[in-house]
Amino acid sequence: MNKKLPLILAIVGAFSLTACQAEKVNKEAVTEVKEKVTEVSQAVIKVKDTAALEAEVLTKYPPLDIEMSAKKLADHTYQVQGMAGIATDNGGFISNSGFVVTDEGVVVIDALGSPPLAVELLKRIRQVTDKPIKKLIITHYHADHVFGAQVFKEIGAEIIAPIGSMKYINADSTPARLNERRESLKPWVNEQTYVVTPDVIIDKTTDFTLGGQEFTINVVGAAHSDGDLTLLAKEDGILFSGDIIFGGRVPFIGGGSTIKWVETLAEMSKGLDLNVLVPGHGDASTDPAQAIKLTSSYIIYMREVMGAAAEDLEEFVEAYEAVDWSEFSSLPAFDNVNRMNANTVFLSMEEESVE
Ligand SMILES: [Zn+2]
Repeated sequence: MNKKLPLILAIVGAFSLTACQAEKVNKEAVTEVKEKVTEVSQAVIKVKDTAALEAEVLTKYPPLDIEMSAKKLADHTYQVQGMAGIATDNGGFISNSGFVVTDEGVVVIDALGSPPLAVELLKRIRQVTDKPIKKLIITHYHADHVFGAQVFKEIGAEIIAPIGSMKYINADSTPARLNERRESLKPWVNEQTYVVTPDVIIDKTTDFTLGGQEFTINVVGAAHSDGDLTLLAKEDGILFSGDIIFGGRVPFIGGGSTIKWVETLAEMSKGLDLNVLVPGHGDASTDPAQAIKLTSSYIIYMREVMGAAAEDLEEFVEAYEAVDWSEFSSLPAFDNVNRMNANTVFLSMEEESVE
């Protein structure tokens, strides 16, 4: 046997091992590059998708000719203000919405009362920025703030809502409410319209950062509705209060708890350090304490007069007629909602008095 053979074999072996390792390293490098390429192309597809999805929603829903503008409140924050009126006036454009533009994307607050209104809102956002819509934060589940949500869901935004929202979504009355709007807001609320289920339900105060800006979602609980939240855009010092506060008009008392509502407002008015407060309806205010006071004094008064009537076992009709409403009767929306509010509070105070 050739004495050199083992040595040769060893050398060949070493070479093939090295070749094998080199191939492995090469393969890994190729895989890595391939992965990167896939990542990049997926990102490209995603960008393309978002643009395609936006193009789709722009033509998917019945057009709505409405006056709507995005008012700049601070460096990054805008308000879209609904008009005065009842739920079905002005194509249902009665509530406020807003948005905050960050370097990474846009945070939208409330989706208005129908998909076509949300499309108009999206168009106003696009006049300001081409950044992707990252999040839709819903202050509470009431038709005028939420029936446009599907537009933002369909373009890939994360839908965030407060605890209590599922109570509204699952309520027996919700399909009937939707059907009522399909009639009263025809054709803008139609068979295409559905109630969006949130991606995230927030049950406690939560901070988040987007594009270098900080936000705080404050969970209020059941005050105006089954579940309310507020959003603070910290950098601009702007609070979106949802319907916890109504600007310059009589509030609508929904299905929440007036006790909780009054307590929340009392808590809010302590140490408010804001540049602007954007209520759920009505004008934004640079005097948040004043804005809180109007809503608060109305609910306190309502509880006082209807509470007394319920305690005295009066009939609602007589009790309502006997109340002096002069402090509020000249305010916008008084004629539309005051009697209904009084009835809601009267019934809840009757319940409270037997509890
Ligand atoms: Zn509202």
